[in-house]
Amino acid sequence: MSAQKSIPTTCVTSGRTARAGAHTHTANPPIYQASTILFDNMTALREAQKSYGSGREAYTYGRLGTPTSFALTDALCELEGGYSAFLAPSGLAAISTALLSQLSSGQHLLMVDTVYGPVRKFCDEFLVRMGVQTTYYPVRLGLDIQDWIQTNTALVYLESPGSLSFEIQDTAAICAAAKAKGVTTMMDNTWATPLFFKPFEHGVDIIVHALTKYIGGHSDLMMGAVVCNEHSHPSVRNAMHQTGQFSGSGDISLALRGLRTLSVRMKAHEASALKIAQWFSQQSEVAQVLHPALSSHPQHELWQRDFRGSSGLFGVLFHEKYSEEALTQMVESYKMFGIGFSWGGFESLALPTFGHLKPTRDHATHTLPMIRYQIGLEDIDDLLCDLSDGLKSLSMK
Ligand SMILES: *Cc1c(COP(=O)(O)O)cnc(C)c1O
Repeated sequence: MSAQKSIPTTCVTSGRTARAGAHTHTANPPIYQASTILFDNMTALREAQKSYGSGREAYTYGRLGTPTSFALTDALCELEGGYSAFLAPSGLAAISTALLSQLSSGQHLLMVDTVYGPVRKFCDEFLVRMGVQTTYYPVRLGLDIQDWIQTNTALVYLESPGSLSFEIQDTAAICAAAKAKGVTTMMDNTWATPLFFKPFEHGVDIIVHALTKYIGGHSDLMMGAVVCNEHSHPSVRNAMHQTGQFSGSGDISLALRGLRTLSVRMKAHEASALKIAQWFSQQSEVAQVLHPALSSHPQHELWQRDFRGSSGLFGVLFHEKYSEEALTQMVESYKMFGIGFSWGGFESLALPTFGHLKPTRDHATHTLPMIRYQIGLEDIDDLLCDLSDGLKSLSMK
């Protein structure tokens, strides 16, 4: 037996060693509602200020950290194996600020074509105004991404599996190519969570998370985080602090609560989603199931090489003969599946994504009508029964 903690154990224990002895007798940190931090005298204030930049700062001002927020950022650091972590009021705020931390006017960003849609909009509209040019590279590039790196390329951004496409990237190859040219890499690890993929082990420099999804886990929280290695810490810290990114203490407490049960929830999401994905792949109405843990997935071998598990979100492509109207009716007939954006909560969701890929992707690989499923924590037999009834009604159309 190794003395090293497993990730499920780390989910429970991390961030619970109270920094500066701020709390010692409760299992969870108190919700510190703080703007002002009081000092005994000016010497103490100056000492606290001196710790700025150390990565383990003393408490100086609410926005720069409280025992509640340090409990979460310490936990995220330990889970990802990072040097420091910062919170933002949403996943998108964390991502946009992390991008700003690495890019200056005149520089170039290599962005994966299958990136989460709102990030694409940020690149195309906001970064353009800042004089940063974005090129969308095909999700399947590996080492050959080196041919896409320009002299002014400052950052390569990855997200694996890709939003809505569920294609897996060769993270190690992309990071090796970027590193060889001195280019920083950033990755969105929301789908896998720190349980199932460890970006730093594959060469990534900066990890971004929508804690809104699995880590929050209960569909009642918006939050994002940036986790960095030592090299990227100063630039990320400056951007997060200078743009005033932080999160409210009550929300941070919800994220910590979610984190404690992350590993049992993920195992349940994984098991049910896998069974349902396998079931879908045997149905005649279905053209293809986009789930990287299925052997039929085009990058299944990459997924097997790199990932420790799969989460509860995947796509199902239906044959062309089924109209958008018929598929919409099927989704509306579900009793167990809600219709809504987001995912990662306890409840199952179904979201038709007809035509979302083609017009927004430079290198789209599939065009059939798709429904994205988030498999929640309901009983699997109830879910299968609902899905089966839905397909029966579709076939009768
Ligand atoms: C939802 C999501 C985000 C954004 O998170 P918000 O908290 O909704 O801003 C970023 N990346 C991925 C992959 C997501 O699914």
